[in-house]
Amino acid sequence: AASDAPVPERLADPATTARIEQRVAAGAEGFRNTPDTDPDLPGNRAWGRSIAARMIDSDLGSATVAAARITDAGALDAAVERGRAASSGWQALGADERARILHRAGEALEARRGELLEVMGAECGKTLDQGDPEVSEAIDFAHYYAALGQDLEYVDGARFVPQRLVAVIPPWNFPVAIPAGGVLAALASGASVIIKPAAQSARSGAVMVEALWEAGVPRDVLQLLQFGDRELASSFVSDPRVDRLILTGAYETAETFRALREDLPILAETSGKNAIIVTPNADLDLAARDVAQSAFGHAGQKCSAASLVVLVGSVARSQRFRGQLLDAVRSLKVGTPDRLTSQMGPLIGAPTGKLLRGLTELGPGQRWAIEPKPILSDHPLAVDRHGDAKLWSPGVRDGVQRGSEYHLTEYFGPILGIMTAETLEEAIDIVNDIEYGLTSGLHSLDRDELEHWLARIEAGNLYVNRGITGAIVRRQPFGGWKKSAIGAGTKAGGPSYLYGLGDWVDAASTA
Ligand code: GLU
Repeated sequence: AASDAPVPERLADPATTARIEQRVAAGAEGFRNTPDTDPDLPGNRAWGRSIAARMIDSDLGSATVAAARITDAGALDAAVERGRAASSGWQALGADERARILHRAGEALEARRGELLEVMGAECGKTLDQGDPEVSEAIDFAHYYAALGQDLEYVDGARFVPQRLVAVIPPWNFPVAIPAGGVLAALASGASVIIKPAAQSARSGAVMVEALWEAGVPRDVLQLLQFGDRELASSFVSDPRVDRLILTGAYETAETFRALREDLPILAETSGKNAIIVTPNADLDLAARDVAQSAFGHAGQKCSAASLVVLVGSVARSQRFRGQLLDAVRSLKVGTPDRLTSQMGPLIGAPTGKLLRGLTELGPGQRWAIEPKPILSDHPLAVDRHGDAKLWSPGVRDGVQRGSEYHLTEYFGPILGIMTAETLEEAIDIVNDIEYGLTSGLHSLDRDELEHWLARIEAGNLYVNRGITGAIVRRQPFGGWKKSAIGAGTKAGGPSYLYGLGDWVDAASTA
C-alpha cells in the first residue's frame, strides 16, 4: 500500500504549509535566508548571544539522561513490556486526540528552540545557522505526521493496523531532527516508542523527549533509554517484541542490526557519497555557493553532504569555476558554535582512521587546491578530551581519478574532491559508479540536460540548481537508494514513512 502520491491538500497543517511557503519564497536554497535564521536580525542577535554564553558548560538534559541509563537485561525487559502495554491506551485515544498532542509537541519544541540549539552546539558542534533549521524541521515533522496520522486508517481500500512498539535508533549528526522525525512518525502511527539516542548526543535527544512528554505524550508510550553496553543494545534490537526499527547510521551499522533479526522490518537511512555535477550551462556563481555550502555545512558531517563536484567540458578545462569555488570555500567562517557567525563548527571528535586519511593523504594524481588544517585552540569546544583538534579548516582536493579511493569512499567530514568529465553522460557514469545513492545534484539551466540527468542518475534525493542538503518535510521527503537505504524505500517527511510503520489488511476484512 505504500505510495509516494502527493499528500492531499487537506492533510496539510496550515502552520506547516505557511512555514514551508515562507522558506520557498526565501529562495530555492531553502533555509538560510529565512527571517528566523538570519543572525543579523537584531532579535536573533540578542537571543543567540544568551545561548552562546551558556553553551560551553551547559548540562541540559543531564538528569534525564542519567535516569534513562540502563545496565541490566531486567530493566530492558520491563521497558519493552511497559511500552507494549501502553500502546493499547495510546491507540484507544484515537487519531484525532493523538494529533492534538503531537501538534502540541510541535509547539513545545518551538518553546525550547533556544535550549535545543544550546545543547546541540555543546554536544555536536552544531552552529546556529545549521541548528536553527534543524529545530524547524523537527517542528515540521510534528505537525506533518500529526495531520497525516489522522487520515491513516483507510488508504486505497486497505486498512492500517498499527504496531505496538517501534524502536528508534538515531545518529548524532542531526541530534534533534532525526530522532524527532522517527519518534513522531511512530507515535502518529499509533505505536509506543523506545528511543535510544546516540551516546554523543544523548542530551539533545533528552531535551527533545522532555518537550514531547511536556506536550502530553505519556512516559510509557515514549520511553528514553541509554544503554550501558553493546550487548544490551543488541538484545534490544533482536527482541521479537519490537515490531519495527527506525535507524539512521552507517551502512555497516544497519547491516549489523539486520543480521541480528532478519524478520524485523527496518526503515533505515544509511551512508552517502554524494556529488554535484556542474555543466557549462550552469549559473556558475550559484553553483559555487551551493557546492561550498553542501560540502561544508556541519563540517561535512551529513549523509547528504556533497563530497564530490564533477565539472563537465569547458567548466573542467577553464580555471574560472575552480577559482569561484575556492573563493567560496575560503570565505566560510570556521569557529566554535558559541560564536554566532561560525558557519563550520568542530567535528564530533578529532579525526581518526578513514577521515584522518582523507584530511591528510593525497591519492595518485591528486593535489590540494585547499589543504585542510587542524585549528589550534584551547577553546573547550574545539578540542577533544586528549587535547586533539576537533576544529579543522575545509579541504579541497583536485585531480580525483575515477575508481580511486577518494571517488568511492564516504569520509563524513570537511573535504571535497574535484573530478572532471568530457560530457554530462560521462559525469553521470562517474556518479553512478558509487555504490551509495542518497542525494545528488545538477547545476544546469538546460532543459534537455536536466531531463537526461533525471532519467539516469541513481539517487533517492535529487536537487537541481540548489544545494543537496536540507530536505524539506512534505515538499522534499528524504530517503536513499542503493546502499543508502535499507527497507521499503520509504522517505522521512513523506506519506510512505507512516505507511511503512503498520501492517495493511483488506478494508473489507474485520479483526
Ligand atoms: N535530512 C538531512 C538533509 O537533508 C540529512 C540527514 C543525514 O545526514 O542523515 O540534509
